[in-house]
Amino acid sequence: MTSSSSSPSPAGGPLVGGPADPEHDPNAAYALEPAYVERLTSRILATTGTTKPLTSPLDGAPLAHVPQSSADDVAEAFARARRAQASWARVPLDERAAMLLRLHDIVLDRQDEILDLVVLESGKARKHAFDEPVHIALTARYYARTAHQHLDTRRVKGVVPGLTRVEVNRVPKGVVGIISPWNYPFTMALCDGLPALLAGNAVVTKPDAQTMLTALLGARLLEEAGFPADLWQVVAGAGRELGTPIIERSDYVCFTGSTATGKVIARQCAERLIGCSLELGGKNPMLVLRDADLERAAEGAVRASFSNAGQLCVSMERMYVADQVYDRFVERFVARTEAMTLGATLGWENDMGSLISQDQLDTVVAHVEDAVAKGARVLAGGRARPDLGPYFFEPTILEGVTPEMTCFGQETFGPVVSLYRFHDEADAVARANDGEYGLNASVWTQDGARGREVARAVKCGTVNVNEAFGATFASIDSPMGGMRESGMGRRQGAEGIRRYTESQSVATQRGLRLAPVLGMSDETYAKVMTANLRLMNKLGRA
Ligand code: NAD
Repeated sequence: MTSSSSSPSPAGGPLVGGPADPEHDPNAAYALEPAYVERLTSRILATTGTTKPLTSPLDGAPLAHVPQSSADDVAEAFARARRAQASWARVPLDERAAMLLRLHDIVLDRQDEILDLVVLESGKARKHAFDEPVHIALTARYYARTAHQHLDTRRVKGVVPGLTRVEVNRVPKGVVGIISPWNYPFTMALCDGLPALLAGNAVVTKPDAQTMLTALLGARLLEEAGFPADLWQVVAGAGRELGTPIIERSDYVCFTGSTATGKVIARQCAERLIGCSLELGGKNPMLVLRDADLERAAEGAVRASFSNAGQLCVSMERMYVADQVYDRFVERFVARTEAMTLGATLGWENDMGSLISQDQLDTVVAHVEDAVAKGARVLAGGRARPDLGPYFFEPTILEGVTPEMTCFGQETFGPVVSLYRFHDEADAVARANDGEYGLNASVWTQDGARGREVARAVKCGTVNVNEAFGATFASIDSPMGGMRESGMGRRQGAEGIRRYTESQSVATQRGLRLAPVLGMSDETYAKVMTANLRLMNKLGRA
């Protein structure tokens, strides 16, 4: 593993200091223009007068002081959102969709600014940050272009053909509460909210405290695309404090984060009988079958396990490799991992960046130390790299991991993957299905049909054949989410937008009433109806 030296920031943008700025000491930390930070943080609804310092995981340097919201601020955010929603729901669907298409272009035009901020706040490599504006552009365009397909009122069969006319309307829920994590701060702050807005809702969002600036940039870009500012409220603070006030006022809650927090949210939503979607953790398995293209699988394995330093809900932490190809796959995977470049810079040169925080680093170190102490072998990586930045950890491959080791079944959420051999495909699938999670899986084979057959047996919400996660995640027409303890509900596709609507059936009865007619007795009516039902069945009608 090599480390990269400092390189200039590719963007002009809001950065001052650091190696990007010739006017400043090249050894100085990166920093942001105070006016830029003020423009972002003023977007938070916060009246407490207290702030929370935000630092960059790249070098620990201060980035901003973020105003903190109270429960009263949350109440005010909902009041404003509710007023804005009442008029927003009357804006024609095509106008709402046009704003999403404008957002698509703005996000692509402003990608350097977005990438700088994402890298600075999260510490990830720029190439992993790039996935975020791409995902938002794909999501915006997909929902804009399919708005009518998902949301138009549709005619359905009535009970009396020709005389009962039934229409199903898609009515917006109202105000959606969105609680999002730090790991993909731009996409997680926006991607679930875009279909909510398109469907006629307002949003109150609480992004993770560690990546507020990126989420606030998202809010500003929505305004630039034409969405009314009050339609998208941002509050800042600890989830434990603001979670309950948000859930108490939401008409629907969209949560992305850990399974433990997801269960707390689900209980609170159940108490109010409101719907929620929960996008939670995973311990995702990858299966390399005996006929896999090993070069491609090894290249894919690096992306599968080390994108965003493994802090990705759909990344692979377990790999089951067919006996016949195990040694050749491992040799290639280890070589590619050892060739990775790590660095704390804003440029494109890094293959992997930093973890986000001391907490994340502590978990990763604990999982690796526990595994090694109990007999696991380190094939690559295995060490923290404080020489690169405070929270760096090497991409790590383990072998010989057993059930008594923490990283066997628990999500590490870091750059650590365990390799296992298998002799029999059915056994590999059974082992992949072990545990409580069911988010994402990956199958590698040169036989696509075989890959899809194996996929059907895997208990995960998404399965990628000859890809790690990008094929499903970037195919916005396909639903994405977890089975079992990895979640409830789906983002993306039809389900990703219809979750923000209520179905309302409106039936208009003409001519014949649904009761005895012309002095018919109830008994005769029952006989006529019974004969009718039998006839309909004979005719093969639904
Ligand atoms: P977390 O659950 O601690 O925090 C996520 C969000 O929830 C944050 O905004 C946090 O402030 C808030 N929160 C925390 N406690 C809360 C409470 N009691 N009530 C309301 N909100 C609360 O998760 P994390 O550890 O920061 O994030 C990593 C986890 O998220 C991993 O398990 C990862 O797999 C998962 N994740 C899942 C997806 C997905 O799409 N399935 C995507 C990204 C991350």
